[in-house]
Amino acid sequence: MIEKILVGNRGEIALRVIRAAREMGIQSVAVHSTADADAMHVRMADESVCIGPAPGTQSYLSIPAIIAACEITGAQAIHPGYGFLSENANFVQIVEDHGLTFIGPTAEHIRVMGDKITAKDTMKSLGVPVVPGSDGGVPDVEAALKIGEEFGYPVIIKATAGGGGKGMKVANNADEMKSAFQTARAEGKSNFGNDEVYIEKYLQKPRHIEIQVFGDGKGKAVHLGERDCSLQRRHQKVFEEAPGPAISPEERARIGQTCAEAVARINYIGAGTIEFLYEDGEFYFIEMNTRLQVEHPVTEAIFGVDLVREQIRVAEGLPMSFSQDDLEINGHAIEVRINAERLPNFAPCPGKITQYHAPGGLGVRMDSALYDGYSIPPYYDSLIGKLIVHGRDRPEALARLHRALGELIVDGIDTTIPLFDALLAEPDIQSGDYSIHWLERWLDANMAES
Ligand code: ADP
Repeated sequence: MIEKILVGNRGEIALRVIRAAREMGIQSVAVHSTADADAMHVRMADESVCIGPAPGTQSYLSIPAIIAACEITGAQAIHPGYGFLSENANFVQIVEDHGLTFIGPTAEHIRVMGDKITAKDTMKSLGVPVVPGSDGGVPDVEAALKIGEEFGYPVIIKATAGGGGKGMKVANNADEMKSAFQTARAEGKSNFGNDEVYIEKYLQKPRHIEIQVFGDGKGKAVHLGERDCSLQRRHQKVFEEAPGPAISPEERARIGQTCAEAVARINYIGAGTIEFLYEDGEFYFIEMNTRLQVEHPVTEAIFGVDLVREQIRVAEGLPMSFSQDDLEINGHAIEVRINAERLPNFAPCPGKITQYHAPGGLGVRMDSALYDGYSIPPYYDSLIGKLIVHGRDRPEALARLHRALGELIVDGIDTTIPLFDALLAEPDIQSGDYSIHWLERWLDANMAES
């Protein structure tokens, strides 16, 4: 049994894991950079180890430092959170080679899903519907132009190794193809060291719908419905909800079952998310994330389960604590991402928090590592908190979000809180009528960069 877990992350997600471990009677070890010596995750864990200087590449991404921290503290398992080393197959291999447990999927599954072309092929062969496009990689512009003609413009060129919105370019016509193709390639090369690209039909008004799956690694898997994450800026999610306002119970059951069966067949272990674009009643697979997602709390809220606890259980070889029949949706949940960013152009805004007050009350969850007097370092992601609300239905969740945002105080820096106040006043948000392009258009019309 796991008695001590090292949390290979920082910020709110590190607290999330420490909390689950503590409720299970498991000790936690925080790792931190020199810039994070005063961070909340260091204070909250049972033990902590400094693993290097401020830049992530020398601390949170340093595999030798993290393995050494396990050896020093006697931690038997590592939870990677999201980002950093969470989807690094090489890291998982090294963890296992050291006789430690990685709380997450196998290196092989991470490798397969981390390469988008292989992931798409795999999913297709497992019966999951995919976006129409090139059959695998596209070698040159000539081949790309042929595909453009075949599928019709616009198309999107994507780096097979891409992630976080990087390495994707849209071509609206043959003239744009050449530069879009080369840019996607160059971004793939410079960001991920891999210039292979593929092409997909660019859907006009899809929603981003992702299915939460969970497997026991022994051929059993369930789905926990969908999250609608269509509200995005530069392909980055800012507002997520579950269930999706546009998805019917029949559609959910059908796509959910397809996804659960697919991951069961590959003996997937732990939490995973299968991402789709959804348009005119059809689902199109785009990628699978082999980790806990930032937005997992909305799923936890409506199903009443603790996904991190479940991850730890299956990593210990225990069965999942629920079956598909136990999973029933209760109400509606919404998450908004509070970033240390200055509107209207979302410039990172690190600095000292002079006052922090978290909202509370029925159906309100604030996942954040902030505290009064904390200084947000400039080296990491700008996400500083997630406000999650849960209501009996969508209108109640929206009203609760409005109320909770009114209570939330983050002084000393600029944040994205005013964005959500403004969004809640929009009829389309109130009715749930939005696609992946809605937010960009709204920002152009309402928050022209000064
Ligand atoms: P990343 O790994 O960088 O997050 P994804 O493949 O998940 O990339 O795509 C991110 C977002 O890009 C999607 O949520 C969607 O908004 C947009 N996108 C991706 N593929 C398409 C497509 N074929 N048509 C329209 N939009 C797309």
